[in-house]
Amino acid sequence: MTYRAQKGTKDILPYESHIWQYIEQVSKKILEDANYKEIRTPIFEATELFARGVGDSTDIVAKEMYTFEQKGRSLALRPENTAGVVRAFIEHGMHRLPSPLKLWYKGPMFRYERPQAGRQRQFHQLGVELFGVSGPSADAEVIQLAMQVLSEFGLDNLMLELNNIGCPGCRNEYKNRLKQAIAPKLSEFCVDCRLRYERNPLRILDCKNEKCIGLLASPGIEQVICGDLICEPCKEHFRELREYLEVLNITSYKINKRLVRGLDYYNRTVFEITCNELGSQNAVCGGGRYDPLVSMLGGPDTPAVGWAIGMERIISLIAPPEGKPLDIFIVSDSLKEALKNAFEVRKLGFSADLDFSGRKFSKQLEKASKSGAKYALILGEEELRTNTFTVKNLVSGEQQRVAGLAGFFKLLGHN
Ligand code: ATP
Ligand code: MG
Repeated sequence: MTYRAQKGTKDILPYESHIWQYIEQVSKKILEDANYKEIRTPIFEATELFARGVGDSTDIVAKEMYTFEQKGRSLALRPENTAGVVRAFIEHGMHRLPSPLKLWYKGPMFRYERPQAGRQRQFHQLGVELFGVSGPSADAEVIQLAMQVLSEFGLDNLMLELNNIGCPGCRNEYKNRLKQAIAPKLSEFCVDCRLRYERNPLRILDCKNEKCIGLLASPGIEQVICGDLICEPCKEHFRELREYLEVLNITSYKINKRLVRGLDYYNRTVFEITCNELGSQNAVCGGGRYDPLVSMLGGPDTPAVGWAIGMERIISLIAPPEGKPLDIFIVSDSLKEALKNAFEVRKLGFSADLDFSGRKFSKQLEKASKSGAKYALILGEEELRTNTFTVKNLVSGEQQRVAGLAGFFKLLGHN
């Protein structure tokens, strides 16, 4: 019997993990400079939380969730993290903290989808959520941060798509008009869209089926999609958002009236960032405003806006930075001395390794060179007797004897 990683999951191997660490460090710096604090929530929650918080008519909940029973309770692996963060926000009374509350997270998400390039069953998201600001300045800040994170990684061919899907008040009118326009052609839409027609007609705009996309472009339907049916306060929100974006130098975006996003709880601003260097799975970031969610999940009425970036998708695009080389490799006849000195130099802030085999010096030196370390600290019989080290610079090949660790540091100071 051989075991393999499950379909749609991947091991992040030792020669890849530095890329992940790099992405995590860079994004942490950008987000914490903007006063976002990290939140870590559990990777499983009550299934009910996602059914309500993401929406049970969404593909994510209806088709893609990993659920399991334990002692009669239905639990689910998180397919996204907004619902979990909002649950924690409510549970810990975070509305009492100074407003706005700005949070960021990173971690694995789980969706049972058909694995393909850019699409896994366990994948990682980096995300932010900003609670407590109803005006569009908050939308602008989070959009700017997403663009900053992505451009920091050298992703240039980014396209920001924006839409305003209205509020629960004006959306009903829009939904009705859309349904009327679709009705004569409903039988030509896919099975999923026919269901969406009843449960959440806006989601039809998100359908990936070519035939449905074509039908939506027919004049009667297109007219409704492009007609500005949202209410005046929602229009004003959008106008102001565009002014804030201009101040932040974000001007080359596309307004996409078909953009509705996959989750049920969005209102007003929704956005997506795509990168055309990726193939068909070209979305790197999705987000929007979700003012109704906190109260819908039992908390006090709190406006909120956020986004999530798909980490695997950006990793596939960036040139990996060089891994950090080891500082010191200890070469010695005595494993005890090697261990002890590795420990000593690490305490002083250097990275150090040793050969655990007790092999011949020449073999150990070979290993030291291969390790990529900058220096070999050689501790032979003679050195041990005289309390000295032979230091070999593994880049230049230069070698010299120094008095103990103090001598070694003095030598480093001269280099
Ligand atoms: P898509 O349309 O590609 O399915 P989505 O709307 O389902 O995306 P979101 O829920 O908005 O995705 O998640 C935000 C980001 O997470 C996406 O833009 C994408 O980069 C990434 N993502 C989503 N699903 C996956 C997956 N199965 N594998 C890898 N990355 C994913
Ligand atoms: Mg999806």
